[in-house]
Amino acid sequence: MPYPDMIAIDGPAAAGKSTIGELLAKELGYLYFDTGVMYRAVTWAALQQGIDTADEERVTALAEQVHIEVIQPTVADGRQYTVYVDGQDVTWDLRRPEIDQHVSPVSAYPGVRAALTIQQRRIGQRGKIVMVGRDIGTVVLPEAPLKIYLDATVEERARRRHLENLRRGQKSSYEEILRAMRRRDKIDSERDVAPLRPAADAVVIDTTHLSIAQVMELVWKLIRERDS
Ligand code: C5P
Repeated sequence: MPYPDMIAIDGPAAAGKSTIGELLAKELGYLYFDTGVMYRAVTWAALQQGIDTADEERVTALAEQVHIEVIQPTVADGRQYTVYVDGQDVTWDLRRPEIDQHVSPVSAYPGVRAALTIQQRRIGQRGKIVMVGRDIGTVVLPEAPLKIYLDATVEERARRRHLENLRRGQKSSYEEILRAMRRRDKIDSERDVAPLRPAADAVVIDTTHLSIAQVMELVWKLIRERDS
């Protein structure tokens, strides 16, 4: 049997999804696709256009018409990809704290999810893909033969995000990150549509005390098991 053609990786913020997803895609020669950028892109467009993110109708209409393009990195500045929203490069803007603050309420709107899920399925079904997000194993690609759910304590995840910010030369407060992360976890896991949770057949890996190399080793073991 060949390696799984679709690999779904879900889990909360800073559990290691993007690091592991990108490495794995490189090693397999697959496309790496981070679905979180699409929810961030809609949030960015709403704030940019002065749309109140509490206005579900307007935000949903925006999600249905905004043009989001995710392509190979166009600048060698540490980015994993380049994101264009209506033709504008917003790759780093999507990581700003105001986006973190508004993205979870925006992504809880059923109409926003419907608009983005259709596009994600279309990309995923081409195969040879490692797709990461919150609902890939449960909703976007439930047929994926390998589903991984990466988890870690919220304190460890906040610590990782804090160190990442400092390394990038950004101002950062651990306490603020921890508070914002708890809030985002809560909204993401309590929403009615496609809440954050492992699929019934997902393998859960707690990365709290694991290095990247150790997580990769576990993931490769799962891939080989499915290959035998
Ligand atoms: O993964 P990232 O932190 O960039 O995701 C940002 C937000 O987008 C998440 O907190 C969540 O609210 C939303 N999201 C989602 N479903 C996905 C990916 C992201 O609801 N598949």
